[in-house]
Amino acid sequence: MKPAILGGKPIRVYGLPYAKQYVDDDDCKAVNEVLRGDFLTTGPTAKQFEAVIADYVGAKYAVAFSNGTSALHAACYAAGIGKGDEVITTPMTFAASANCILYMGGTPVFADIDKETFNIDANEIAKNISNKTKAIIPVDYTGQSVDIDAIKDVVRGRDILIIEDAAHALGTKYKGVPVGKLADMTEFSFHPVKTITTGEGGMITTDNPEYYNKLINFRSHCITRDINQLENKNGGGWYYEQLDLGFNYRLTDFQAALGISQLKKIDWFISRRKEIVSKYNEAFDGLDGLILQKNPIFSDTTNHLYVVKLDLPKLKIDRKQMFEAFLAEGIGVFVHYIPVYWHPYYKNLGFQRGLCPNAEDLYNGLLTVPLFPAMSDEDVQDVIRAFYKLINYYRK
Ligand SMILES: *Cc1c(COP(=O)(O)O)cnc(C)c1O
Repeated sequence: MKPAILGGKPIRVYGLPYAKQYVDDDDCKAVNEVLRGDFLTTGPTAKQFEAVIADYVGAKYAVAFSNGTSALHAACYAAGIGKGDEVITTPMTFAASANCILYMGGTPVFADIDKETFNIDANEIAKNISNKTKAIIPVDYTGQSVDIDAIKDVVRGRDILIIEDAAHALGTKYKGVPVGKLADMTEFSFHPVKTITTGEGGMITTDNPEYYNKLINFRSHCITRDINQLENKNGGGWYYEQLDLGFNYRLTDFQAALGISQLKKIDWFISRRKEIVSKYNEAFDGLDGLILQKNPIFSDTTNHLYVVKLDLPKLKIDRKQMFEAFLAEGIGVFVHYIPVYWHPYYKNLGFQRGLCPNAEDLYNGLLTVPLFPAMSDEDVQDVIRAFYKLINYYRK
């Protein structure tokens, strides 16, 4: 069959996106109720959302933020990251995982990924640890949990925190334990493409009361009315003090209402994603020209993303041409991610290409395949047909 990009008939006329939120009448009703209530922000619904997330992952505390990026920023603040501190993360991630280090004046250090799981490699972390290393920010790429025990082994006996970027991984379990109670702090994102959404939104979970207090303060300008924290204990009923430089990073109550309502559907979201992924795995396993992400047995993933690596030596075209060929078929593939340090901003900081060969090699063949709970079985079949059509056509 001739690819649509060469004038053949496309698999579908209406393009399928790579991801899409699922919002139903119950979600709208929940948001509407809060909109007509007394508190649009800093009210009881935001607190309730924190409580249900803490309960869901089994953490003592959860602090809601305006988005996942601000949540990561706050975690870096709570961790005490500052000038001269090095923080190790993966290059195969969204820029936020490294930007949050720079916000605090710290220095990002990129450790390469494992060739098979595509997650940060604990051995590469070990190689990059110095006496300046203050924290590790491992990312549960595509929702698959990092090998957190291996990372804990690497930092054991040193004063190094683990801030897990679990933006992809709400609902994922590591050795049967929910992601969110494994690291010193764990960040979640509720962007529309993530497991559940609040439009924009984020959360940090932790068991540590000291981090918890810092996170709460940072979210509201480090302004406090807590008598124990005030310098002047006789200020009066209106009195508050700003103790450090913070931000307004709060999540609104109507967004929290959406989050609470979305969380009620998470089991279905996850099981539908698993169903689709098992169809993809079955179909793509034997398709010569594709390399699949290995899912280790310790990780029970929510499958935020389904990525494949094109086996470029076996194909007649490169990733860019393949990407365009899929779009012409009406299949909205995407690419997650460009290695962070390839961005001009990071290049200008002095990072050079070649730093993490495995991540760069993955990027050159990487494609994100459409995956979201509201996909129909026909949508899934269209994606599989498009892969067979294009890979078979372009294989050497
Ligand atoms: C989505 C995401 C974040 C946070 O993004 P926000 O859009 O700010 O919520 C952080 N890290 C990774 C890996 C992400 O995918």
